[in-house]
Amino acid sequence: MEVEERLMERVPKEYRIDAHHWLILHGRYVCVARTPKCWQCAVIRYCDYQPKTPPPKS
Ligand code: SF4
Repeated sequence: MEVEERLMERVPKEYRIDAHHWLILHGRYVCVARTPKCWQCAVIRYCDYQPKTPPPKS
């Protein structure tokens, strides 16, 4: 199954118009390529990526 088809299954119809903007922003600010900010992620419970990035030590 292609990514588009899988997204269509998961994204409720009423959110589909704006979903691509949210996905782009999510990738730009939270799920960034080298070190995703998993500790800030609103969709962490749906994500299979491992290992999750822990929060930075302050
Ligand atoms: S939990 Fe998953 S979707 Fe969220 S930032 Fe981490 S890798 Fe990305």
